[in-house]
Amino acid sequence: MPQRRADDSPGAGTSGPQPPGRPAGLAPGLVDRYGRRATDMRLSLTDKCNLRCTYCMPAEGLEWLSKQAVMSAEEIVRIVRIGVDMLGVRELRLTGGEPLVRADLLDIISALRLAHPDLPISMTTNAVGLDKKAAGLKTAGLSRINVSLDSLHEETFTQLTRRPFLAKVLAGVDAAWAAGLGPVKLNAVLMRGINDVESPALLAWALDRGYELRFIEQMPLDADHGWTRRNMITAAEIRELLSVDYVLSADPRERDGAPAERFEVRAKVPGSAGATGPVLGTVGIIASVTEPFCSDCRRTRITAEGKIMSCLFSREEVDLLGLLREGASDEQLAERWQDAMWIKPKAHGMDHVGLDAPDFVQPDRSMSAIGG
Ligand code: SAM
Ligand code: SF4
Repeated sequence: MPQRRADDSPGAGTSGPQPPGRPAGLAPGLVDRYGRRATDMRLSLTDKCNLRCTYCMPAEGLEWLSKQAVMSAEEIVRIVRIGVDMLGVRELRLTGGEPLVRADLLDIISALRLAHPDLPISMTTNAVGLDKKAAGLKTAGLSRINVSLDSLHEETFTQLTRRPFLAKVLAGVDAAWAAGLGPVKLNAVLMRGINDVESPALLAWALDRGYELRFIEQMPLDADHGWTRRNMITAAEIRELLSVDYVLSADPRERDGAPAERFEVRAKVPGSAGATGPVLGTVGIIASVTEPFCSDCRRTRITAEGKIMSCLFSREEVDLLGLLREGASDEQLAERWQDAMWIKPKAHGMDHVGLDAPDFVQPDRSMSAIGG
């Protein structure tokens, strides 16, 4: 069966001859051949995780990287410094796997904060154990937190994550808020027939506490390769599900390259389509599959083993850590990073019809091994 790269797919607009290399003398920064500039860095601290979400990891297995293969704290700090000081990175998101399982997490954040006093540094986490770590993370210099929370029902949570840790997660979210790691953003992936019906209740819970909930369309990045286009819950369906209880209207604030399209939320007048009362808060929908935002993408990703990924669906991984360990200078590392970003695909190609046709080839890495 022929292998098709996600970025070569119909509609992605990247077919044709291989583009020429990055011209010399380009403006500094992480620019690509389509004129986008990456300023938002997602850095994975580990591929390990203590949950096993069905849309991300397999029930069992998935060999962890060795300690030696993963970037050390010093290597992370150097790579971030090159990104910020030489390549125009303006914000940093720490992710994984699960960043909280890294024993030297506080040291990493303290060192990053010392080097970059004004850099927004956020972290995406499943919040297991966050109740005990939130205050320390704040003191170390973490700016803000994103927590993944797909259900408020113990059984559904356990079905989705394959671990009975809902109470720990809820304690973690509250501790993050109390520690001043707000605004707390919550990420929820809806799965058909499992937690999709819960979406208005999840939104009510978040609005009540002042947390900003974002629904993420499920992407074909699960280790089990169970994703199908037909079965995923689309952004249009999410808006429909929420419209049972709420009226959504476009948030007037500029989207500014954010993956989530934000909506203001008002309560619905029972039995009518109209809204009543004040704006209760906002909800975000990240429609990566059906309403992609690739043309305004500002992200550059570094995996836990120091590979540059210009896109979640990129099949080109460029080894930055290997070069660093060979003794490369900052300039050489910056140049390799720029080269890697120059060939960023125009689009991921997930939005074209027939994605779940038999010849679609899902990326080899699961989301946990990339860093979402
Ligand atoms: N373990 C942390 C967590 O869950 O927040 C950080 C890493 S996790 C890979 C980052 C985000 O990716 C989570 O919000 C998760 O819901 C999302 N994610 C994982 N697999 C996904 C998929 N197949 N489609 C869409 N989002 C996914
Ligand atoms: Fe772990 Fe996050 Fe993946 Fe869930 S989504 S398995 S918490 S890395």
